[in-house]
This record gives sequence, structure tokens and C-alpha cells, in this order.
Amino acid sequence: MTSISWIYWGAIAAWGLGAILWVEVVRDLYHVLAHVWAPLGRLHNWHHRVFRPDLTPSSALIYRQAQWYNDVPEACVMIAMSLVLWGLAHIVTPELAWGCGVGSLYATGFLLAAMARGMGWTWAHEMTDITHLPGPFVQTPSRWWVNRPYHWRHHFDNQNAYFCSTLTLVDQVMGTALSLKGKTVAVTGASGTLGRALLRELQGQGAKVLALTSGDQPIYLENSETPIPTRQWQVGQETALEQELRKVDILVINHGVNVHGDRTPEAIDCSYEVNAFSAWRLMETFLKTVDGDRDRVRKELWVNTSEAEVNPAFSPLYELSKRTLGDLVTLRRLDSPCIIRKLILGPFKSSLNPVGVMSGDRVAAKIVKRAQRDVRNIIVTINPLTWVLHPLKELMVSLYFRGLTRP
Ligand SMILES: [Zn+2]
Ligand SMILES: [Zn+2]
Repeated sequence: MTSISWIYWGAIAAWGLGAILWVEVVRDLYHVLAHVWAPLGRLHNWHHRVFRPDLTPSSALIYRQAQWYNDVPEACVMIAMSLVLWGLAHIVTPELAWGCGVGSLYATGFLLAAMARGMGWTWAHEMTDITHLPGPFVQTPSRWWVNRPYHWRHHFDNQNAYFCSTLTLVDQVMGTALSLKGKTVAVTGASGTLGRALLRELQGQGAKVLALTSGDQPIYLENSETPIPTRQWQVGQETALEQELRKVDILVINHGVNVHGDRTPEAIDCSYEVNAFSAWRLMETFLKTVDGDRDRVRKELWVNTSEAEVNPAFSPLYELSKRTLGDLVTLRRLDSPCIIRKLILGPFKSSLNPVGVMSGDRVAAKIVKRAQRDVRNIIVTINPLTWVLHPLKELMVSLYFRGLTRP
């Protein structure tokens, strides 16, 4: 094949893939519109009415009606918009535009599938309605492709989030890939700078917050006269929190210690005990509370491992203990029953780090925003090296652990 035809077919393929991506985005935006514009909402309601929480249809008739009122018009809009793209492509590159036909064909496939389901044919339901099939969840909500646990949340967690059908792109851009509304979120290290900032930010996003602190003072957030619910605990008493953690949807492990230049045996012991082992025990205690499908999709663990995982923090024992924690999280993620996020943070100003350069409030706001975009390794730092090194390290260590260990 000559280089000219490689370029030609490459350009056709690019239009084809672009057209598929386009119709997927159209589908998800149409879905968002159905939740904000009542006339469309009336059609879309059939889709929400039909499923029970175990994803069995409440009636075969309503299931068929839902196909004709919701899925068929949705596929028609996808086809129409694929033709619009085709038309635009024709203006830009007339001889390549037919590649966009792939998008129209793809959308037509969804129309035929919806019609087959509307006819009440069981095989069509089983083969083409994959995100609505009943049965236990064996995976956690996935990151890039919509799986059953991901879509379940749109029906039964928050109908104003998790709009995507195949790719999670639109939810990621809109910040609707994780809803915090009504979720109970507990934060350790709650009396620290970041702990407080996180609690305020999470509360602002509609979460019910619970402060876990070693201090004996209740925690007040700015502009409030009443303290937030606070539970006192100490390092070493992690398992005693099990009952509380059963009611917690998201646990943020954020407590830590920095012994700076101290290198005594006590400093070594303290660093590992607080930063690595206490965090790990709390992690295990929380993971034990993940019980059943609902917990598997709603519960999450966020662990502040810090950018000391891959970069100097100018405190060797802090780095050593945080790297241990980071690696334990990577290991535990291989079999986790729920989503685990890492918070990889650069130096922010706090009592642990008075020379930090970022503000705790801004770091907390970014953490929450990125979690809502479903980022699993949330990097907030001014050090550009972390953005390069952390993903590489996470991938390599994860593959290494996967290859050499067993569940
Ligand atoms: Zn659905
Ligand atoms: Zn919906």
C-alpha cells in the first residue's frame, strides 16, 4: 500500500471514530436535556419507571413502552445528528466525508436494537440492554466505560448525575461522574488545615460530614455556630470505628505526622505507625464494611498518600512512611470491593508544613472537583514532575504487584 492510501484510510478511520464519539456525546447530552426539560422528561420517565433496584423490569409492558418512548427517539436523534456531522465533514473534506457514515451506521444499530426490545423479544433485552441486566455486581463502577454498577447509580443514587451510557466522557467533563449529595463522608485528621477545608468543601457539595479527630474539641467550620458531628479517636483504635464506618459512604484517610529532621528510633516508629500502619488498619476496617451491591457502588475510600510517593518532601521519614502507604494502597486496590482514590498532594501551608506554598482551601476544592470527575489518582501540586512520575510509578508498581501476588 502506498503512503498516500495509508493517509487516505487513516483519515477515513479518523472521521469514523470521531463520528462514533460524536453520537455517543449526543446521546448523553440528550439524556441530560431529558432531566432538565420537562417535555423530554415525560418520555424519559418511562425509562426510570420501569426498573426496580435489582434492575428487574417492574412490568414487561412498561419495559416495551419505555423502549418506544425513550430509547427509539434517542436513537433517532443520534442518527439525525450523525447526518449533521456528515454534512459538516462534506464541507471540510468532501472526498473523505463518507467515513462519517460509520457514526450513522452505529446509531442505526441502536435504533434497531431499541425497536427489537420494543417488540418484547427477550434476546434483544439480554444482548443489547447490557447496563440494565439484573444480577450481583462483580465490579466497581468503571472509569472510562459505563458498566452496570456505574449506570445503576443514575437510577438509584442520584438521577441528576451519572448520565453517560457507553463512555463516561460527558460525566467527567460536567463533574457528574461522582455525586456527593446526601452521602455521608468521614474525614480523619479533621482538625488539621486540609481536614477542615475538605469537610467544608464536601459539605458545600451536599455531603453529610463526620469529623474524625484525635483532638478533644468539637470541629467548627467557618461561618457556623454549631459544631459538625465529631467523633474522637486515637491512632491504634482503628477497629473501634467499625460501627461508625458502616454508616459512612466515603472515608477520607487524611491523618498524618511529620517528624521533619528527627531520626531517633521513636521518630521512625511514630512515622510508620501513624502514616502507614494506622492508615492501613483503618483502610481494612472500612473495606470490611462494604457489604453487598449497594455498598460496592456507593462506598469509596480516599487516601492522602502525598506526592512524597514520588518526590522529596524534605523529610525522609515522612517520605518513607508515605511511600509505604502509597504502595499498600496500590496493592489493596487489586482486590478492593469499592473504589479507592489516592490524593497525591504537593506542599500546602499547614501546621505540619508551615513553609507550604499552596492554600489548603484551594487544594481541598481541587480534590473535590477532580473526584467529581472520577479521577482516581488526584494530583494537586505545583511540581510538574509529579504529573509525569506518579502515573508511571502507579502503573509499574501495580503491574509488579499483580504479577507477583495472589488475592
Ligand atoms: Zn437506565
Ligand atoms: Zn435518566
